[in-house]
Amino acid sequence: MDPSDQDNNFELKDSSDRGVGIFTKLSYSKDEVVMRGIVHEVVRVNHVGVSQMGENEYFEPIGFMALVNHSCNPNCGIRLNETGAQDYVAIRDIKKGEEITFDYAMQNYKIGYFPSRCLCGASDCRRTIGGWVDLPTQKRQQYEGYVAPYLLELDLRK
Ligand SMILES: [Zn+2]
Repeated sequence: MDPSDQDNNFELKDSSDRGVGIFTKLSYSKDEVVMRGIVHEVVRVNHVGVSQMGENEYFEPIGFMALVNHSCNPNCGIRLNETGAQDYVAIRDIKKGEEITFDYAMQNYKIGYFPSRCLCGASDCRRTIGGWVDLPTQKRQQYEGYVAPYLLELDLRK
């Protein structure tokens, strides 16, 4: 699928004090694919703008997928599709017009490049954007089935 086709279902708008965000023009039921991931190029360096897809593998998201904001109480989670890329899947029902968000800790084991405070506005906001390693047990349970599988593999190795 051409990413620009998918992007037609979304619009880029101001997201209060967090810069821009991605808002959906459609509604989704829990577990529906909201944005389909496409891997163009795998890179091996963790830097701003890449998403983790394996212990030492990262990819650069393209189109609106690259601009989806973090939330500590998101409406989307991560699920791998048959190509190995990550889809954003509805973790609960999503209404037309809502901002699409996921928790960066669902995708990244460690995050070392977010110096600023989290501004997501969730009542259970963790104030800093961390990785999977920083996530409280209760959040890990809430996200069960909606996180990148390599995070769980990395946990087992410790
Ligand atoms: Zn937050």
